[in-house]
Amino acid sequence: THEFNTKLYKGEVSFKTGLFINGEWVDPVDGGDMIDVIDPATGKVITAVAGGNTKDVDIAVKAARKAFKTTWGLKVPGSERGNILSRLADLLEKHSDELTALECLNVGKPFAGARQLEIPAAVYVSRYFAGWADKIHGKTIETNEKKFAYTRHEPWGVVGAIVPWNGPLVSAAMKIAPALATGNTVVLKPSEITPFTALYLADLLNEAGVPPGVVNIVNGYGLTVGSAISLHPNVDKITFTGSILTGRKILKAAAESNLKNVTLELGGKSPTIIFDDVDLEQAIKWAAYGVYFNMGQVCVAGSRIYVHEAIYDKFLDGFTNFAKGLTSATGAPFAEGTQHGPQVSKTQFDRVMGYINSGISEGAKVHVGGERSSDEGYFIKPTIFVDAKPSMKIMQEEIFGPVCSIVKFKSEEEVTEWANDTTYGLAANVFTQNSARAIRMSHALEAGTINVNCSLSMELNVPFGGYKQSGMGRELGQEALDTYTQVKAVHVNI
Ligand code: NAD
Repeated sequence: THEFNTKLYKGEVSFKTGLFINGEWVDPVDGGDMIDVIDPATGKVITAVAGGNTKDVDIAVKAARKAFKTTWGLKVPGSERGNILSRLADLLEKHSDELTALECLNVGKPFAGARQLEIPAAVYVSRYFAGWADKIHGKTIETNEKKFAYTRHEPWGVVGAIVPWNGPLVSAAMKIAPALATGNTVVLKPSEITPFTALYLADLLNEAGVPPGVVNIVNGYGLTVGSAISLHPNVDKITFTGSILTGRKILKAAAESNLKNVTLELGGKSPTIIFDDVDLEQAIKWAAYGVYFNMGQVCVAGSRIYVHEAIYDKFLDGFTNFAKGLTSATGAPFAEGTQHGPQVSKTQFDRVMGYINSGISEGAKVHVGGERSSDEGYFIKPTIFVDAKPSMKIMQEEIFGPVCSIVKFKSEEEVTEWANDTTYGLAANVFTQNSARAIRMSHALEAGTINVNCSLSMELNVPFGGYKQSGMGRELGQEALDTYTQVKAVHVNI
């Protein structure tokens, strides 16, 4: 196994580039793949890291099973699992600068935003589930005079966690923390595009005292490692975040192998609805943040913005200024003042530009942006479309880039219908000062998360998940305890 060293931001950062199995760094058994990791701000290779294959997944699953039966699972009191997770949270906090720097280098995230929001979120979610580890209770149910039953919330066993590239550390932490708190062991596959923070995390797991085999990290391609995990007969559950296309493949693999339990967090095409009674400045700020944060690479991005006709022109002016301001604050992820960085990869850059071109060819108008902002790297200007029609691809499909359409509406009824006219159902944002309307809309919108007068709420103590094709099951909050356990009923005849 090799080590990667780089001088970033405040100092040296280093991590190993092999596979992390049973608490040790190993090379793939058959040599595996060497996967180039690209700096999205320059398009140049940073380093190559190891990618595993089916045999490595098999070894990792065996290690996870053994740990589940011997050093983790219900063998270890919840309080002790909680202590270990708390130590992990402390270590993540201690190394926040390094983790942020790696996320900036690998994903292209602007440093300030990542340091302020995402890395603290990974710390918080670990601490939050550490607190739950000794509070997982069943109940007692009286059945008749002589009989009663009690329930136990038992871990599934080995959990396969497959995560995407847009928030690599926080999405890994969102899966590892509740899985470990409830007693499961994990085989984690980071996105092959963004493995750096997961690799850095591995040594922190050892330092926190997570026993060998409890978390195994097998980097690699989706078609090799990802599909080996989802087909594996000894993986009891998959927790997946990514695209609908891959979600379908995982569900199919689960059905065709051992009917493993599956939780899916998939894509979105979230509406943002602005009524005419809002605080305009605040609504513009939230709506813009809601679509441009992380260069639009956010599953809950509010990319369809519906504005009441009475304030449409004023809103569009203000929103345009915001987008232009962001364009001027575009730059290298580490540069001071950068608020907008590159798209994560050439593939994503091409995909987003493809959507921009499709919007134009279908008759929508680019109001601002619509082009790359630098010859080097994968930078795209914050873009606004106007004159978009509901049937256009840019209004129906997830773009996952800094692109939105701003559309005029007349009535609550009309906008509710448009907002729900989608196969997605991840989130929806409503802006109004009228509380009755806010509640009415919140109940009428078909989505797992509703934000009233705000956007991108990722409060990690609140359940999160999709309606319709945006997902299956819930992550985060107390609901995650159900996601990562199965209920056993014990009937007792006295
Ligand atoms: P993706 O589906 O291409 O990849 C996600 C992960 O799945 C990666 O680790 C990838 O290697 C792996 N994978 C690919 N093919 C696989 C296969 N056949 N079997 C098993 N694993 C496989 O998605 P992406 O491009 O990395 O991420 C973007 C998508 O993720 C968007 O659609 C976005 O909306 C979604 N997303 C959803 C949420 C959410 O919580 N709902 C959060 C972030 C991103």
